[in-house]
Amino acid sequence: MAKTSACTSCGAPIYWLKHEKTGKRAPIDVAPSPNGSCLVNLEEGSYRIAFERSSGTLYTSHFATCPHAGQHRTIASREANSLGRSSDELAARIGVSGATVERVRAVLASDEEEIKEQLLAGDIAPYTAYKRVRWLQRAKAGSA
Ligand SMILES: [Zn+2]
Repeated sequence: MAKTSACTSCGAPIYWLKHEKTGKRAPIDVAPSPNGSCLVNLEEGSYRIAFERSSGTLYTSHFATCPHAGQHRTIASREANSLGRSSDELAARIGVSGATVERVRAVLASDEEEIKEQLLAGDIAPYTAYKRVRWLQRAKAGSA
């Protein structure tokens, strides 16, 4: 059973949950949110990203909501918390180009869990993530 803890930056209650596949831990807001992007399993202490509007209870990555997250508050986590919005709407809202939003969407829609995680954690830029996903998809298509 996942225990709650407090964000060391802002003190908000969070769960530290492991990604279902990668095992990488991430802070998730304790309070569910209809705009969240994560489906959690509190029994297992794990989470996964909901890539489509889902019937399950959604939770938000604390990277997206922490007022002190700074570098963590990436385009990607905001995008992941805005599933279902049009790219124009989203681009206007977060002040990036529509092309960047489309790249983030393409990466999040792919099966490349590791790249998605890196993008959501802000470790790599949307353009880099997009190029890597495209390269992997082409490599897979070529070997099929
Ligand atoms: Zn915080």
